[in-house]
Amino acid sequence: MLARGEGCYVFDTEGKRYLDLYAGIAVSSLGHAHPGLVAAVTEQVSRLIHTSNLFYSDKTAELAQKLCARSGMARVFFCNSGTEGIEGAIKLVRRFHYGKGSCERQHIVATWSAFHGRSMGAVSLTGQPKYWEGFGAPIAHVSHTKYGDLEAMARRLNDQTAAVFVEPIQGEGGVLPAPEGYLAGLRALCDKVGALLVLDEIQTGVGRTGRFLASEHDGVKADVVVLAKGLGGGVPIGAILVGEHCAGALPVGTHGTTFGGNPLAAAAALAVLRAYEEQDLAGNAARVGEHLLSKLRGLCEKYPAVAVAARGRGLMCGLELAADIDPRGVLGALRDKGVLLSTAGDRVLRFVPPLVVTSAQIDEGIAALDEVLSAAPRVVAPQK
Ligand SMILES: *Cc1c(COP(=O)(O)O)cnc(C)c1O
Repeated sequence: MLARGEGCYVFDTEGKRYLDLYAGIAVSSLGHAHPGLVAAVTEQVSRLIHTSNLFYSDKTAELAQKLCARSGMARVFFCNSGTEGIEGAIKLVRRFHYGKGSCERQHIVATWSAFHGRSMGAVSLTGQPKYWEGFGAPIAHVSHTKYGDLEAMARRLNDQTAAVFVEPIQGEGGVLPAPEGYLAGLRALCDKVGALLVLDEIQTGVGRTGRFLASEHDGVKADVVVLAKGLGGGVPIGAILVGEHCAGALPVGTHGTTFGGNPLAAAAALAVLRAYEEQDLAGNAARVGEHLLSKLRGLCEKYPAVAVAARGRGLMCGLELAADIDPRGVLGALRDKGVLLSTAGDRVLRFVPPLVVTSAQIDEGIAALDEVLSAAPRVVAPQK
């Protein structure tokens, strides 16, 4: 049971210290108890916590402006989580076409092994049947194509397509970066049929891959970008960013939220953006991320029967374990050695540490992982 944190370390109720290399699943971007974030939230609590969406607040307006300036987008809708952001984006893309008189443009294409959240709309886009099981029919007019396959996408898109939803790097699916040219190809395909391109940057955004948005690496500009996870540094907030052409897609009264973008969450996100500048978090993610990836590749060379592939970008990396290695056993052994990590997909160790992590801390984590992999627990029957 965890009780407190400081920088890239967390402490359990017994006082044992752990190196945090998963950041609450890519959320605690500034690490724990970051002085700037603590001060901003503390100050805001005593000023104004909540206004509802009946009034703007100074902090929310400032955040909207900064996010638009950073991302090159025109408007923002704030919400409380990634799932809510995706849900809002689903409504937005359909309503966009409805507003243009194309009511028949309802179809949304997502990708297999994608993760977009767990509400009925978001889970319908999530391309992993295990998340649908037992929940009845998914929402209508949604289909999936193979991630990375532009030809499959080209065959699927037509004048009924409202939008394509995609992650620049599939996170929960197993840390799978889009192949070179995939996002640019999707952009061109969407433009050709008049569909919108929605990038789910909930996990990849706000500096995680070494740029503010992961799609900047590809020079691709989406119509809609959804952010959440790292945006509030641990305080719940999500954002749907849209280009000017989508600004009127959801007229007043068609979508809303009570808590979304409240001044407290906005103050937290502003503190994250301040640290992003002052501590060059994107630069750190790029540098330390490269170091991390080279260390993970080293482990693949050292233990080819245990670690079969290393991939990722910036501080979003995955180490794929062999089919007969028990990922939970590896996580448990690491935890005993004072290192916290999470998995993604069936057997990928996922590294999404705070963006303030140092190369020395990565080395500390890799040393522990090296020991664990040298005696990795094997499972009797290979996992599928
Ligand atoms: C985590 C995640 C979501 C869901 O976000 P929540 O805040 O958990 O609702 C959606 N898409 C991606 C890519 C994610 O990583």
